[in-house]
Amino acid sequence: MKAFAFFEKINMNTKTLFFIFTALLIIQFSACTSADSPNEDQDTGATLTVNIPEFNPDNAYNYIQKQVAFGPRVPNTPAHDSCAQWMADQFRSFGARVIVQEDQVKAYTGEMLNMKNIIASYNPDRNRRVLLCAHWDSRHIADSRLATERTKEPILGADDGGSGVGVLLEVARCLKESPLKYMGVDIVLFDVEDYGQPSDGGGYPEQLDTWCLGSQYWSKNFHVAGYKADYGILLDMVGSKGARFTKEGSSMEYAPNIVNKVWKEAINSGYSGYFYNDQTQKIIDDHVYVNRLAKIPTIDIINRPSSTESGFGAYWHTHNDNMEVIDKNTLKAVGQTVINVIYKESIGEL
Ligand SMILES: [Zn+2]
Repeated sequence: MKAFAFFEKINMNTKTLFFIFTALLIIQFSACTSADSPNEDQDTGATLTVNIPEFNPDNAYNYIQKQVAFGPRVPNTPAHDSCAQWMADQFRSFGARVIVQEDQVKAYTGEMLNMKNIIASYNPDRNRRVLLCAHWDSRHIADSRLATERTKEPILGADDGGSGVGVLLEVARCLKESPLKYMGVDIVLFDVEDYGQPSDGGGYPEQLDTWCLGSQYWSKNFHVAGYKADYGILLDMVGSKGARFTKEGSSMEYAPNIVNKVWKEAINSGYSGYFYNDQTQKIIDDHVYVNRLAKIPTIDIINRPSSTESGFGAYWHTHNDNMEVIDKNTLKAVGQTVINVIYKESIGEL
């Protein structure tokens, strides 16, 4: 009985000490920004913190507008050359190491296309890396079944091409503003994604492989020998008003755990109006080749509305894919999610 009272007394004191300690911790962490997240370095035991930057959708919007102002970014055109130069310069101004991978690839038409994959690297010496990618070319024809005019002319591709690049340029700006300490990031802009053979409804693999020529090339010829990344996130058509990002079938086949953690982060960040837990049909996009050929588990964040026959926005592969479809709220939802994912990942908090 007495002994019990003694231990209870000790226990009270421990509780009191614990309370004071906790209160001190709260005071200490309140002094940091709310986005600071502590973790422990497994080698040194030091506390890791990260300052998560704010993704600015106005910047992303302007970067899309700038691309569209060059005109359609179709290989073998002056607009394509000028835009490539501009994007490489932008990444350099955001402190990245930039490599432009150039070669010729053969289109389904037999034409040889001048391909430029643009690779912007942060912390290139770090072993832990995340790959972020998008395609930057725009389609050479408007061949959607919904297209009603100028079907033989190239499209502006504000969403299909422009939006992924716009978001990743703003991510690059954030990486300059708040450099990652413990992880590397590579932003790869694939060329010649959208010069594929128009569908005859058959969907033969030979026909599907006429798409995504830039990512197929990169996946077989990395920009640096022995390139590795822990996982990849592809952004394609991530800027339209009311976009609906579902768990796409190929992403779920190759990298379900990455899909689930990115979607969880998006929903926890308040973007459940854009990121849906429904799983949708597999599509062919650059991530399929990065998974198959480069063996890097890679997911696709892509707009999959339920209301159209194609499963893509009604503007897709038509001349309506212009700045009018772009919405800053969508850009923010995707961009901030990507930022939250990479900064939290960098300190092992995801
Ligand atoms: Zn396309």
